[in-house]
Amino acid sequence: MIGYWSGSQPSQPLNISEEWRDNYSIMSLANQTLTVTTIINAPYCMLRESSKTKEGNDRFEGYVVDLIEELSKILGFKYKFKLVADNAYGARNESGYWNGLIGEIINGKADIAIVDLTITSKRAEAVDFTLPFMNTGISILFKKPTTKVTTLFSFLSPFSNVVWVYVLAAYVGVSCILFIVGRLSPYEWDNPHPCRQEDFVLENNFSLTNSFFFTIGSLMQQGSDLTPKAMSTRAIAAIWYFFTLIMISSYTANLAAFLTVEKVIYPIESAEELSMQSSIEYGCLASGSTKSFFQDSNITTFKRMWDFMKTRDVFMPKNVDGKHRVEKGNYAYLMESASIEYIVERNCNLTQIGGLLDTKGYGIATKKHSKHRNLLSQAILKLQETGRLHMLKEKWWKQKKGGGQCADEGKKSSSVTALKIDNVGGVFVVLLGGLTLAFFVAICEFMWRSRKSTAGCVR
Ligand code: ASP
Repeated sequence: MIGYWSGSQPSQPLNISEEWRDNYSIMSLANQTLTVTTIINAPYCMLRESSKTKEGNDRFEGYVVDLIEELSKILGFKYKFKLVADNAYGARNESGYWNGLIGEIINGKADIAIVDLTITSKRAEAVDFTLPFMNTGISILFKKPTTKVTTLFSFLSPFSNVVWVYVLAAYVGVSCILFIVGRLSPYEWDNPHPCRQEDFVLENNFSLTNSFFFTIGSLMQQGSDLTPKAMSTRAIAAIWYFFTLIMISSYTANLAAFLTVEKVIYPIESAEELSMQSSIEYGCLASGSTKSFFQDSNITTFKRMWDFMKTRDVFMPKNVDGKHRVEKGNYAYLMESASIEYIVERNCNLTQIGGLLDTKGYGIATKKHSKHRNLLSQAILKLQETGRLHMLKEKWWKQKKGGGQCADEGKKSSSVTALKIDNVGGVFVVLLGGLTLAFFVAICEFMWRSRKSTAGCVR
């Protein structure tokens, strides 16, 4: 049984059974032709290169064009695209009149509006929204500074500060140990006048200053006239040579990398910093949810930003105009992160500054209490669960229209960092091991010689 009609009056409604209700509601969109209003904004909706020779829906391509095609396949409706007359997303003016896409839905000029249309509470009072098909938030689009940062002490950059401190400590430590071991080992004591054995004057090459000079000489790859003679001091020299070999090679390799990579310093790092200065201008789309966000915000930073923006000529009629102004320099454009992601994939001289100032989603707008809303929401969920929405995003963000151009850029700038103690810690451990061994050998030498001298044979 599909349903029953219990009323005696013809005006009483038909009761449709549970299992048939879904089919019935799907059928309510099947074969209908919906007028879909949209805006040209890459990559959501774009005019095809051959759009002049084409007609109707074929003139358009993009993420939402594919999305509506998928939805139409699920729900069985037909659709006809139209571009919004005033090029606006939708904002309410003082007299309560809505413009843009929202206005067209309210006035019945279109059945649904689909593009990067943000779901906001104010808009939801005027129209109905489906579940979001994409999540986003406001962020900052900015031009990467092109000037290379040169600092007087850039030669220090291959090693982190901690590593430099460790190297200095190793230098002082090894020099002192060389001095002590030199004193301890009898084989470092020599008679300066071998012909006058009876004088009993012995001299040691490794005085404190000489020890420091010996270690710095090898660290600088120069050497000195001092040569260790005992096994213990030679062991110290050998392990120190090994240490310098590794450290100098790491330093040279990393310095070369540092000199070839441009290090850029951004004049602003966050919205907070942007709001605290006035030399860099900033703005957003002239009629949209981003502007309303700043206009209505109670947060001090955003209020300050709104006070700055409202007195200047910083609002853009389209996102693409904002992008062009950012490219010219000295201007930051506040726009939604999904669009920023698309732009920075293709324009390697532009970047996103900081994180998201809020979180929101894009939905399809329908007339208030429209029966299409639930059907469209269900179909969106289905596309989400099957991974189709993700695939569409990959297609239009990463692959089509020059996507992935700047993928190497990120790698280049992030690959050079100062070597930290974790990277070179091993060589310090080896040095420490070598020094301990040398110390041990020196004690053995000392004991061996004193045993021999008590036995009466010195050499
Ligand atoms: N997506 C926004 C809107 O729906 C456009 C913007 O203001 O950035 O109004």
